[in-house]
Amino acid sequence: MKILVTGGAGFIGSAVIRHIISNTQDSVINLDKLTYAGNLESLISVSDNERYAFEQVDICDINELKHVFAEHKPDIVMHLAAESHVDRSIDGPDEFIQTNIVGTYNLLEATRDYWSTLPETRKQAFRFHHISTDEVYGDLEGTTDLFTETTPYAPSSPYSASKASSDHLVRAWHRTYGLPILVTNCSNNYGPYHFPEKLIPLVILNALDGKALPIYGKGNQIRDWLYVEDHARALYKVVTEGKVGETYNIGGHNEKQNIEVIKTICHILDELKPQKNGQPYESLITFVKDRPGHDLRYAIDASKIANELNWTPTETFGSGIRKTVEWYLSNMEWCSRVQDGSYQRERLGIN
Ligand code: NAD
Repeated sequence: MKILVTGGAGFIGSAVIRHIISNTQDSVINLDKLTYAGNLESLISVSDNERYAFEQVDICDINELKHVFAEHKPDIVMHLAAESHVDRSIDGPDEFIQTNIVGTYNLLEATRDYWSTLPETRKQAFRFHHISTDEVYGDLEGTTDLFTETTPYAPSSPYSASKASSDHLVRAWHRTYGLPILVTNCSNNYGPYHFPEKLIPLVILNALDGKALPIYGKGNQIRDWLYVEDHARALYKVVTEGKVGETYNIGGHNEKQNIEVIKTICHILDELKPQKNGQPYESLITFVKDRPGHDLRYAIDASKIANELNWTPTETFGSGIRKTVEWYLSNMEWCSRVQDGSYQRERLGIN
């Protein structure tokens, strides 16, 4: 099969591509605009493979999208391209509306245009998989309730509202035009190649630099953490075995308060790379003013994907976070090229 992956140079998209190239015989076309979040250096392990191709395209450009469909003739689309950082969506929502809503609309139209010309058997087998977030459900007030596939949408931030909007478009294209879609809503991911503006890589790299470890409010926000390679495996399973028109929630069964996550990272670093001044890394924790509209708790009921598709995560939070810290310690060059901007400057031809 030929799989068109949008946003394949991002954190989760690159894990999906590494998974497909390493574990299947499928081909991948990575379609990515290469915003600040896109980093082709996350794909070095697979980019020479003859089953991998790259197209630098903005999903807001429908003509370019149509050109890619005509040239590569994919069997599957996995749509991950998005603006994904909540804080950035609060500072400037415009890009989020453009890419997440208008871009998804363009991609749906380019896909429908191409799909409608396919012979009947290929048309039946075609899949459009939209990758979304549990943040579309808003937050949970109780301590035991969970998001299911039928929880009503109540997004809180410009990011989650734009993702909710794109989910509705995708489902409408199924109901109205019969496009064979699947939607997944996943909890917070962590793992290798994560851009260091997000909590876990930011804490690891700040700690190693002896910088403050900022934590919003009291750090009591609860997130359900999923190791990114478990997510990549789940996504491939859904797109190849899931039922058309269905939604699957994906989660790690790993609810943790942010403060607990940070302290765990500090303890692992104390063991693997103690500070030269002998102080524990926890001494760097600094509480900062909470984010406006900050959701308190997210937690996923992932029983549908477990029961219907036999997927469960392989990593616990304890095993996954240790692997992640070890990965960052062994890949400081990838990190410093992101931190000093050289991963972007070189591809733009700037010295
Ligand atoms: P990311 O920000 O790391 O990567 C996004 C990628 O999309 C980048 O490579 C970027 O260059 C590309 N992109 C952005 N705008 C584009 C455009 N207009 N045209 C083409 N490409 C464009 O994001 P991520 O963390 O890998 O998330 C991937 C998807 O998974 C997103 O849709 C996100 O909403 C969803 N998701 C993320 C998480 C998480 O914890 N990171 C959890 C659940 C769902």
